[in-house]
Amino acid sequence: MARDSTLRFAAQTDEVTSLLRIVNLVRTGEATTRPEIGRITGLGRGVVTQRVDQAIDMGFLADGDFGPSSGGRAPRTLHFRADQGRIIVCALGAVHIHVGVAALDGDVIAEVHRSWDISRGPADTLDVVMSMIDEVLERTGDAPVWAVSVGVPGPVDFETGRPVAPPIMPGWNGFDIRRRFEQRFGAPVWVDNDVNLLALGERAERNRHHADLIYIKIGTGIGAGLLSRGRIHRGANGSAGDIGHVRVPDADAPCRCGKIGCLEAVAGGWALVREAQARIDAGEASRLTPDELTTESIALAAEDGDALAIALLQASAKVVGGSIATLVNVFNPGVIVIGGAVASAGELYLAEVRQRVYELSLPLATRDLEILQSVNDRNAPLRGGAELAREQLFEVTFARWFADGRPTSERVSTPA
Ligand SMILES: [Zn+2]
Repeated sequence: MARDSTLRFAAQTDEVTSLLRIVNLVRTGEATTRPEIGRITGLGRGVVTQRVDQAIDMGFLADGDFGPSSGGRAPRTLHFRADQGRIIVCALGAVHIHVGVAALDGDVIAEVHRSWDISRGPADTLDVVMSMIDEVLERTGDAPVWAVSVGVPGPVDFETGRPVAPPIMPGWNGFDIRRRFEQRFGAPVWVDNDVNLLALGERAERNRHHADLIYIKIGTGIGAGLLSRGRIHRGANGSAGDIGHVRVPDADAPCRCGKIGCLEAVAGGWALVREAQARIDAGEASRLTPDELTTESIALAAEDGDALAIALLQASAKVVGGSIATLVNVFNPGVIVIGGAVASAGELYLAEVRQRVYELSLPLATRDLEILQSVNDRNAPLRGGAELAREQLFEVTFARWFADGRPTSERVSTPA
């Protein structure tokens, strides 16, 4: 008896595994017809037909047009039903909130943006986020909410969805962000560090699903997202990639974290603003006006040829390049993507970083290394958040919820 039920269970597991694989092959575009599915999976024609019918019944796939024929009758194409559910994506920054709705294929179909100071704390901030969500949901039809993703500018314990001692988010330490959204939408919720999401966005944008990729954001602060074989490396406590606070040799500038000589205290946006102010006060010529000094205005002035702004950015790039070189030796990435407001000056910044990295890293570690400018558009954080939700839904938790036809927080959430 025991052996029988074990066998039955094994057969069932097999059936589920092949069903989920087939949905994912069509979802990712790796297969578009039943014969293609058969070729890739090695499953017999009858089994493929049965599983595809099941996936269609459950609402994951649908029949499309007839594909190209290779002799006989043309096979019918299949497509993934990306409009069956909606993904809510929230990107919280230090001074703004960006909320969007994406289809299940990751396409951002509506978004709304506003200024907001995150240090006002979780209760007020999430009230604002909820009303922004209402607004975008209203504009995007009535498909059920399948997932919510939330990006925050600080370290996150991914298992529980709580920020961990975030330096620029007073009042948020340990706050149960996930619960607030689960109660409201009944859908699974994932919370992650914003730079991790940007790294996932670049992975999708560049079609590098299995890349060893490092995304480095050089904005007001500095942080990195690490992808190992396409998967985020978060570390034991969620602080992996926090390179803004590695020590720069011989530097002694005080940092907002309380230590001295941190990378962002020398090369981050807030440090550049402080340095620009000091040099203008000391009489250095520049088109930068002291009352409008921001990371963005310095990057723009550099693009327009302002000597002070160029000098500041080159100094920043040189120091950042030094820290990246260390990271390259340790992690051996294939791709480094540089983003954020400081790096928006483009080639001016990138050229300096490249030179430092090649000068200081081991030749083997840089042999095939690409150092690229990020796409850096306004929707990048939303695409990254949608990417996280899609990965978690279809590659991590699919087996837990597929039988219901759609995900719920009850089925998906790991007990905290
Ligand atoms: Zn620091």
